[in-house]
Amino acid sequence: MRAEPSEVVILGGGLTGISAARHLTRSWILLEKEARLGGHARTDERDGYHFDKTGHWLHLRDPYTKNLIADLLGDKMVPVERRARIFANGALTRYPFQANLYGQPPEVVKECLVGFVLAWRRRQDPQAGAPLPPPANFEDFIHREFGAGIARHFMIPYNHKLWGVHPREITSAWCTRFVPIPKLEEVVAGAVGANPPEMGYNVSFLYPREGGIETMTRALAHGLVERGEVRTGTSPDAIDVAARAVEVGGERIPYRALVATLPLPDLLRRIRGMPASVELAATRLRATPVRYLNVATKSSPPVDYHWIYAPEEKYPFYRAGIYSNAVPSMAPPGRGSLYVELSERGPFPTGAERDTLNLRVAQGLVEAGAIKSPDDLLFMDLHELPHAYVVFDDHYYDATDTIRRWLEANGIYPRGRYGSWTYNSMEDCILAGREVAELLNARLGEVSAQAIK
Ligand SMILES: Cc1cc2nc3c(=O)[nH]c(=O)nc-3n(C[C@H](O)[C@H](O)[C@H](O)COP(=O)(O)OP(=O)(O)OC[C@H]3O[C@@H](n4cnc5c(N)ncnc54)[C@H](O)[C@@H]3O)c2cc1C
Repeated sequence: MRAEPSEVVILGGGLTGISAARHLTRSWILLEKEARLGGHARTDERDGYHFDKTGHWLHLRDPYTKNLIADLLGDKMVPVERRARIFANGALTRYPFQANLYGQPPEVVKECLVGFVLAWRRRQDPQAGAPLPPPANFEDFIHREFGAGIARHFMIPYNHKLWGVHPREITSAWCTRFVPIPKLEEVVAGAVGANPPEMGYNVSFLYPREGGIETMTRALAHGLVERGEVRTGTSPDAIDVAARAVEVGGERIPYRALVATLPLPDLLRRIRGMPASVELAATRLRATPVRYLNVATKSSPPVDYHWIYAPEEKYPFYRAGIYSNAVPSMAPPGRGSLYVELSERGPFPTGAERDTLNLRVAQGLVEAGAIKSPDDLLFMDLHELPHAYVVFDDHYYDATDTIRRWLEANGIYPRGRYGSWTYNSMEDCILAGREVAELLNARLGEVSAQAIK
């Protein structure tokens, strides 16, 4: 038994766990399964090439995070003007597809434009046709908001590749929060090439000058070991909710509050004695994995873009990016470091299957202009993120709500992208860590004060 129990146990040391630890004024212990902190915001290095866990570009909107990152990193972060492209129908056009049809084959532009105008007219004047019920699912939402052409040429095939499930399996409640709808004027302007080069709020991002995104993660984690206890290489065996204790290798670590940032199903698997409603909700959580390749080239890539979106099924990837085009230090001088996010999610390819996959990827990259030829490749390393995308299906909101209410009633606070079981960004996770820390600073303080009276 530990001499002085910590008030808060944090499970998982990704950005959410790190941020929670940074902002807690109560005593804490953080348990992280891996050898180093950072979770998805870590960077791997091989032979002088650096790779994040696919592109991790920092978009900041909140004044607090802007100040925090500026204070911690200053000019170690560089601003980068986004260069994102759509790679479809043999053309490289600007992102987003729906607001930049110019450059696609004329028949595609026509189909997309006519479809958008028809959809727009239906929305403007529902009296003209049948009254519109709420969209049944993401596919329905796409048709309604973007029209048949944009649906067929980009939104449906791209989202199918990205999410690993057809958009009709995804609830429309999710889309209204996360999918921006362009105005008619923007779509028309984009079809004739009259839009500004880059659109949307994500037109620039910050990125560490050196060392990949983990440079930022390390700055956030700096000094934590002096303020609390950080145990890496540690994963809890079980959580005793009734006794409020985490069990790790025969040791019991008591807590007053538990901040859980590990994937929600992994947390629930460790909890004994859940009510039947929570057990049922746990069976309804779905996520899709993503496999990706770290790709190193012997010469610098012949294009200047940072990343592309590839909606067509014939390419085995849905997105690919060039780190070293954003920040040259990501590769040795005159060379390139790339990531390729694969849409295929069958059995993990080995042997001949792996060679075939690599060849198809290399051919796709050549067509997209990202590499000169397959001979220019130095290595392609295959990795997997087991829970990359949570699936927002019809059960999602009820299931997560049931689980969250029960956990919080029992002193367990699920937070972060996989703890909350959601879709969010690094900035959201930094803010989620601060939010839960402030909640617990206040809540545990109040209870302590009452206990003292
Ligand atoms: C493909 C992809 C691309 C992305 N691109 C961007 C981007 O460009 N910009 C952006 O802002 N965001 C991006 N994100 C989102 C970003 O990665 C996340 O929002 C953020 O890193 C999640 O942080 P987290 O701490 O909540 O979770 P994680 O980073 O997953 O951290 C959870 C931690 O828990 C640990 N853990 C797991 N199991 C256990 C266990 N049993 N015991 C103890 N510890 C455990 C893990 O090792 C990990 O360290 C992307 C995400 C993905 C999947």
